[in-house]
Amino acid sequence: MNNILEIENLDVHFPINIGTVRAVDDVNWKLRQGEVMGLVGESGCGKSTLGFSIQRLLRPPGKIVNGRILYHGQDIVRMTEKEVLDLRGSKIAMIFQDPLTSLNPLFRIDQHFLETMFTHDKGLKKAEAFKKAEQMLESLGISPDRLLEYPHQLSGGMRQRIMIGLGLILQPDLLIADEPTTALDVIVEAQFLDLLADLQKKFNLTIILITHNLGNVAQLADRISVMYGGNMVEVAEANSIFENPLHPYTQGLLSSIPNIKLDQPKLKTMPGSPPDLVNPPPGCVFHPRCPQAKGVCKTKKPETKTKDGHLVSCWLY
Ligand code: SF4
Repeated sequence: MNNILEIENLDVHFPINIGTVRAVDDVNWKLRQGEVMGLVGESGCGKSTLGFSIQRLLRPPGKIVNGRILYHGQDIVRMTEKEVLDLRGSKIAMIFQDPLTSLNPLFRIDQHFLETMFTHDKGLKKAEAFKKAEQMLESLGISPDRLLEYPHQLSGGMRQRIMIGLGLILQPDLLIADEPTTALDVIVEAQFLDLLADLQKKFNLTIILITHNLGNVAQLADRISVMYGGNMVEVAEANSIFENPLHPYTQGLLSSIPNIKLDQPKLKTMPGSPPDLVNPPPGCVFHPRCPQAKGVCKTKKPETKTKDGHLVSCWLY
């Protein structure tokens, strides 16, 4: 399968008054065309920063200081602003956590769609654009009549579906969904994930699903990537991650999911706190919390190796 995205040696820094936050640290990552990749890890591990970097949407003072992000072989890091603007939306789209703050309350839904389409195609006829918006709403299971309503007239689930529609209206081939179900209740969340799976097949999309919810990735992802402290620590097929996690952090993450089949008087937790990314621990960034740490872990950063089909960065392998 072809790679749609290849990230090489990516470093993203945020200089702040007490030092430099190393939010993404020497990440190498490949995404196959047409797959759903779950990107998981605790808050602050760098997963959203990585998603924003792919679209060059980092807010200052965030900056890509090293590395390449190759989209179909073209380096996004070195593109001009105009080239990135052309790419954003039309080839790579992003949907965010909270649809209410992403939609303009003063604009009707049709105006959101039309503005998105006209930004990328100034010659498009209004009637044609409106027709496309109607068809998109039908694909999302929403009556086209709702195009004439304002965001506050729609439910949270509908607004999030509209956000996907706006992401897909220009027919991108890569969709980055950053915690898309955070604002939804569990029933609407399940419907939303089903819809995302249908749209992925219909439009042959590649999806990066950024989430801290392992249930979501289990439902949708072909492969899973695990980030910790700005580092990509494990990448593997989804089944294999759940059945045979290799990295001690992935093992800890999975064992802290409650299991209704087990008699668990107490939930398992991972000891310690996420690392300080201004002064990250030397060696393996996970070593202060790792139950299997050994001498070398405290001094030398582990290399990434292939083991049982997993890419894993740990001195145990
Ligand atoms: Fe644990 Fe060492 Fe592996 Fe890091 S490299 S995860 S500290 S065993």
